[in-house]
Amino acid sequence: MKDFKAVQDNFELNVYPKRDIVAVEGRNAIIIDDKGREFIDCVSGNGVANIGHGNLDVAEAIFNQAKKLITVPGIFYNDKRAELLEKLVEIAPENLTKAFLCNSGTEAIEAALKFARIVTGKKEFICAMKAFHGRTMGALSATAKAEYKDGFEPLVPGFVHVPFNNFEKLEEKVTENTAGILLEVVQGEGGINIGNKVYFDKIRRLCDERNIILIIDEVQSGFCRTGKIFACEHFDVQPDILCLAKAIAGGIPMGAVLCSEKIVIPVGKHGTTFGGNPLACAASIAAIDFMLKNELAEQAKAKGEYLLKKLQESELQMVREIRQIGLMIGIELRKKPKPYILKLMEEGILVLPGGMTVLRILPPLTIEYELLDKVADALKKVLNIDLAE
Ligand SMILES: *Cc1c(COP(=O)(O)O)cnc(C)c1O
Repeated sequence: MKDFKAVQDNFELNVYPKRDIVAVEGRNAIIIDDKGREFIDCVSGNGVANIGHGNLDVAEAIFNQAKKLITVPGIFYNDKRAELLEKLVEIAPENLTKAFLCNSGTEAIEAALKFARIVTGKKEFICAMKAFHGRTMGALSATAKAEYKDGFEPLVPGFVHVPFNNFEKLEEKVTENTAGILLEVVQGEGGINIGNKVYFDKIRRLCDERNIILIIDEVQSGFCRTGKIFACEHFDVQPDILCLAKAIAGGIPMGAVLCSEKIVIPVGKHGTTFGGNPLACAASIAAIDFMLKNELAEQAKAKGEYLLKKLQESELQMVREIRQIGLMIGIELRKKPKPYILKLMEEGILVLPGGMTVLRILPPLTIEYELLDKVADALKKVLNIDLAE
């Protein structure tokens, strides 16, 4: 058998910390490697595979659309694009009435930043510590982690970072020139930090008073992950702009920027070649229909609570705290997460890190309870071992 790992190591620009798995197939919540080993997937492509791997509804939608029409630029109308736009606005918080379609999370953030500047005529943004918004220059400037930014300066000027869930600290940084406040409602990569309603209520009021655009990044928390279609529903917060991507199209690259009536952009000021292509739109329609038909928000809520309860049954010596909202679960460890991630891989479970000391658990929302039991058993076993590096 060809050594795919060696080939990839040879030819791929080495930007990702790699794990020793050549994933070749996925079946719902199982990932299978080239040696036939099976793993329970609590990574979900970093929160993309909410409807599981190998989803036939999405596969059929892609096949049917690929035969018909894959590409048509934004200057023309398209049936699938129309259908998806209507669907997105229908499921979104009710003040969001328009959408711009793009191809990734970072692109959704870039668009939101541009929109906030042009709508307000102001320049500055307030973001949160531990925030992650993407890797392109604007989104990177909004991202908190120094390690991601070092060496890439000069970044986009005008970004400040304040502690998450602390309104007073945020308010202190507002100036006459604040165009937008950009926040995740549940910080994902930062370690599953959950916002609170009072915080978002106050921010909403502040934004209204000071003509500031409230941008919510639900690239990771969106599409039923947290037990609601969008996590902002938990906090009754109505953003002016909602950024989406990851799970939006069942794994096909896509992003979306949902906008309130406030957001009016002159024609010709923004655009993208691939954004809203009929193939991605068809995949997204099928993925969203699948989520609604199978009540994946309710499933995420029930399964998240189930897994949390299992984990709470016994003392886990290496665990400081577990933060859970739907199937977005952060296990705060007393140690660095990496040895635990590798140990869990030996046990056949794939998980992600988050923040400095967090294990992030993001299974497909369609995961079977039987597999959740196995995840819980493996976590209980591994999180009682001291694996300090
Ligand atoms: C993944 C992520 C992004 C960036 O999305 P890409 O598609 O990787 O560019 C932005 N914001 C959040 C909250 C994310 O989790």
